[in-house]
Amino acid sequence: MRALRRFTVRASLPEPLAALGRLATNLRWTWHPPTQELFAAVDPQAWQRAGNDPLALLRDVPAAHLERLAADEGFLARVRATADDLDHYLTAPRWYQTRGEQAELPATIGYFSMEFGVTEALPNYSGGLGVLAGDHLKAASDLGVPLIGVGLLYRSGYFRQSLSLDGWQEEHYPVLDPRGLPLELVTDAAGAPAQVHVSVPGNRTLHARIWRAQVGRVPLLLLDSNVDENDDDLRGVTDRLYGGDQDHRIRQEILAGVGGVRAVRLYCELTGTPQPEVFHTNEGHAGFLGLERIRELVTGQGLEFDQALAAIRAGTVFTTHTPVPAGIDRFPVDLVQHYFGGDRLLPGVPIERVLALGAEENPGLFNMAHMGLRLAQRANGVSKLHGEVSRGMFGALWQGFDADEVPIGSVTNGVHGHTWAAPEMTRLEPEQLTDSVLWELRCGLRKKLVDDVRRRVRASWLQRGASALELGWTDSVFDPDVLTVGFARRVPTYKRLTLMLRDPERLRTLLLHPERPVQLVVAGKSHPADDSGKALIQQIVKFADEAGVRHRIVFLPDYDMSMARYLYWGCDVWLNNPMRPLEACGTSGMKAALNGGLNLSIRDGWWDEFYDGKNGWAIPTADGVPDPNRRDDLEAAALYELLQAQVAPLFYDRDESGVPTRWMSLVRHTLTEMGPQLQAERMVKEYVETYYAPAGSSATAVRAGSFQGAKELAVYKARIRSAWNRVQVTYTDLSVNGAHAPVVGQPVTVRARVDLNGLSASDVEVQAVIGRVADSGELSDVVTATMTPGMDGSYQAELGLPHVGSVGYTVRVLPHHELLATPAELGRVILA
Ligand SMILES: *Cc1c(COP(=O)(O)O)cnc(C)c1O
Repeated sequence: MRALRRFTVRASLPEPLAALGRLATNLRWTWHPPTQELFAAVDPQAWQRAGNDPLALLRDVPAAHLERLAADEGFLARVRATADDLDHYLTAPRWYQTRGEQAELPATIGYFSMEFGVTEALPNYSGGLGVLAGDHLKAASDLGVPLIGVGLLYRSGYFRQSLSLDGWQEEHYPVLDPRGLPLELVTDAAGAPAQVHVSVPGNRTLHARIWRAQVGRVPLLLLDSNVDENDDDLRGVTDRLYGGDQDHRIRQEILAGVGGVRAVRLYCELTGTPQPEVFHTNEGHAGFLGLERIRELVTGQGLEFDQALAAIRAGTVFTTHTPVPAGIDRFPVDLVQHYFGGDRLLPGVPIERVLALGAEENPGLFNMAHMGLRLAQRANGVSKLHGEVSRGMFGALWQGFDADEVPIGSVTNGVHGHTWAAPEMTRLEPEQLTDSVLWELRCGLRKKLVDDVRRRVRASWLQRGASALELGWTDSVFDPDVLTVGFARRVPTYKRLTLMLRDPERLRTLLLHPERPVQLVVAGKSHPADDSGKALIQQIVKFADEAGVRHRIVFLPDYDMSMARYLYWGCDVWLNNPMRPLEACGTSGMKAALNGGLNLSIRDGWWDEFYDGKNGWAIPTADGVPDPNRRDDLEAAALYELLQAQVAPLFYDRDESGVPTRWMSLVRHTLTEMGPQLQAERMVKEYVETYYAPAGSSATAVRAGSFQGAKELAVYKARIRSAWNRVQVTYTDLSVNGAHAPVVGQPVTVRARVDLNGLSASDVEVQAVIGRVADSGELSDVVTATMTPGMDGSYQAELGLPHVGSVGYTVRVLPHHELLATPAELGRVILA
């Protein structure tokens, strides 16, 4: 018989063990080893069978066993101590609470993301973006930052990967029952499931219930459209992550953005939590949240569209995560019109205004990143290099400004140490960091990885159809003493999964070197619709299947957080060879580094700013070479050369007790110098200080006095809009102060006259700009000075000559208003 429907029944715990339920549902256990050890102590074998998932464990353990534990005083004392520790963690003041009155900090921050990778026990992510969001929530919890995460709950998560016999990726979509996951339904005062609704075309309504995962102190709200009230097609809106066509995707994004704001409002109301003032849009997908907040102000507060826009921008932070054009969401304009046209979904938000917010070069497309940037007063990329690349890439939104003035900053990603560092590593005290202690620990972690590799290779072959009898060789795959290199990530083209196969003979030689062999572990999922990515995986698998090398190179299917952990712990070297500068940040190398893994990487993303010559190796990039084939050849050759001539010799250079002391000095340097900088806590603190706190102040400023600030700002912008085209600089002059020929540092006076076309002097800032001048007349390395207005349109500033050689100057007029975050914000400038 087949079951009609499947559902999960939670264990009912004996009263004395009730706290175990709370410890199992608060996901702090995922980064708190003592809580994990407590669950392991319930039943060590069942804990393993349950894949270290407390809820699965409690379902699996027989009631009689639980009754026995409920009478075991020693065990009960341990439960109490662990529960007390959790309570203390949840309630005691932390970093955010002890920042005093030095800054007004937002009471709540809404953090919106399409995916969240908190734990493998809640598989709601596809890769780096989601895992980063999970790490962000955990670090916010550790710091006491009052975040509320908002996203969708996918019934099948992303997908599970396996391989066919000939190495082709196969996808599986196991159906997850939310009741078996560490989630609680958000309910209303009467105890009924709380729901949010959004309108969809055809006079229909999309309903969603709200699940809450508790990530330490931070609630994560996940919307789920799989409810009886929905038509069948609408039930499927949250079926899979990144799984459908454009129509499916826009529905998901409408639910995440518009429905997400409604969910967070409802949740705060039901729980007495202060409503968020600051909203963080983690990548463009969730960008519709800004439109819903405009609607709230238009229909609820009687604001005009422009006033509401000014108001919501003040409290919005947008983070862009990719410089790869294919990574940016673009919808056909028709589709956006289909959903946002008319007055049902967002009354008071005219479709022309919506379309203008997402406009891009191609008039037929609606660009979610452009909308994200236009709806947020503050924006950033995710490494220094990515910030720079983004300023160039999105510069057209701020025409007339040099790339370095484009108001997109950067916060380099970090990773959550307690999630990604091996427990033995975090227990180590700095003074214990002797070479031999560290080396022993590294060898222990490599050994664990080798065990995991053998288990997974065997399981994969069984799955591919091999019989157990022919798999004896898998017991000796990999060697715990061999230099282990890891490469695991999603498989978009720019990450170049197969660069290592550029010269297969050369790779074979490295793997099979008689004294200094290398072993290579590879993993990664390709997007289900990306056959070229699957072909890359197949190439690796076919190579790794060869009898001559299969003990030294493996492809492990189904890369996820649980596999990743062993890779980051156990690999000696973490390899990354993206096409620079397309890796926005990259975080897997950071996780390896927290465990003493050394990076061998193209200087892209985070590695561009962290590589210092003593913490790993930089693969030279040939990013100026236009022919991609030749570029791959050059970079692959450099990679082989580094591995053969530097990495392997260093690893195998041992002292009399077998310790590679020179290697260990790089490991120690990596751990002590880089470790603290790579932490997600550093990242979240930066977000608080440079984004959330200023956004909170701006949001407060525009709301004050029934949105007086927003109204003034809207009037101001309208005034600028209508006068700007006829503002002009009518006269300029530069005179060198002093009698002699100009020398560097000498003061000069710049004078100008400006016709403000009816604007007042306080509406603008007039700047003198001096810098190097190229033959083309372009200025670079400029210094600027604000010019002081005199009578009747005259302006003057004195500044020092900044450079020797050919120097030029100009004068420019910029909008000025105290509620603008930067003078470039409106993307308007008049040049002399
Ligand atoms: C960290 C992580 C990623 C992201 O790695 P990148 O270096 O950014 O490609 C992807 N998947 C998992 C499971 C991770 O833990």
